[in-house]
Amino acid sequence: MNTDHPFYRHFEKVYGSRWPGLFAALQTREQQVARVNAWSPSDKSTKSWSQFPEKSELPGCHWLTPAHGCQPERNSDELLDIYIMDPASVMVARALDVQPGDRLLDMCAAPGGKSLVMIESFGGEGEIFCNDLSPERRERLKKVIQQYVPREVRNRVWVTGKDGVQFGLKEPGSFDRVLLDAPCSGERHILENQAAQDEWSPRRTEHLAARQYSLLAAAFLAVKVGGRIVYSTCSISPAENDDVVRKLLKKKKSAVKLLEAPVGVGGERTELGVAYMPDQCGFGPLYFAVIEKVE
Ligand code: SAM
Repeated sequence: MNTDHPFYRHFEKVYGSRWPGLFAALQTREQQVARVNAWSPSDKSTKSWSQFPEKSELPGCHWLTPAHGCQPERNSDELLDIYIMDPASVMVARALDVQPGDRLLDMCAAPGGKSLVMIESFGGEGEIFCNDLSPERRERLKKVIQQYVPREVRNRVWVTGKDGVQFGLKEPGSFDRVLLDAPCSGERHILENQAAQDEWSPRRTEHLAARQYSLLAAAFLAVKVGGRIVYSTCSISPAENDDVVRKLLKKKKSAVKLLEAPVGVGGERTELGVAYMPDQCGFGPLYFAVIEKVE
C-alpha cells in the first residue's frame, strides 16, 4: 500500500506522527501466546512449560507461554492442552470480572478464545450462552468448546445463532455479564488482503460503527441492573471504539456507568477504555471498555 491510499491517509490524520510506526507494526506478524487449558492435567502443563520455558511476563496471566511453533496436543482425557491466542484477549475476558454462578452472554463468540476464558471463570453453577450469527464460525466455536471444555462443564454452555440485537428484545435484564466482542474493521487483516484494501473507504468504518452501536444497545438491554458489559474490537479506528461507547453513555445517561478498565503491561488508556496496539506491545490491536448498568 502506498502513502496516497485513502486508508493510509485516513489513519495518518487520526494518529499523526505515530502512524508510520503503527502502520509498519500492523504489517508484522501478530504475537500470540499459548494459553494452557485449565482443565488440562498438570503433567501436560509441565510439559508445555519445559518445552517453551520463556514464561510471559504479563501480570496475572501465569497460564501463558510464548507460542513459537507450539501446537495443541490431545490429553488422555481427549481435551486439547493449549489454545493459541492474542494475550490482550485474555485481559478483555477477565475485565468482565465473572463471579461463580453468573449467567453469561458472549454475544459474538466465534471462534471462542474469549468464551474459554469466561467458561473457566464461572465456577460450578454458572451458565454461558456463546452466540454467533455465522453458521460456519459457529461450527468452529462448537468444535473449540468440545475440544477444550470437559463434558460436565459443557452441560452449562449453550451455543446459539442469533443476531446479537435479538438478545436486547427477547431477553432483557437476563445476564450478569455480557461480552460484546464486536465485528469490526480489523485493520491488520485489511493490510493482509488486497481486495479488502481496494474496497476500503471511511464509510466502511462508519457503517460498522452503526452496527456496533446497535449491538451495544442490545447488550445494555440484555444485562441485569448491576451487571457488567465489556465492549471490545480489534480495530484501531476511534469511530469503532471510544465513539461507540461515548454514544451509549450519552444516550443512556444515568442508566450506565463507565468503569475503569484494567491496564496490563503494554496497554494504554484511551479516553474511555484501554487499547493494546502493536507498535507499543507487539500484540493487538485490541480495544476494550467496561460498562456497568446502574438502572
Ligand atoms: N469473540 C471471538 C473470539 O474471541 O474468538 C471473536 C469474535 S469476532 C471479532 C466477531 C464475530 O461476530 C464473528 O464471528 C461474526 O460472525 C460475529 N457476528 C457478526 N455480526 C453478528 C451479529 N449481528 N450477531 C452475532 N454475531 C455476529
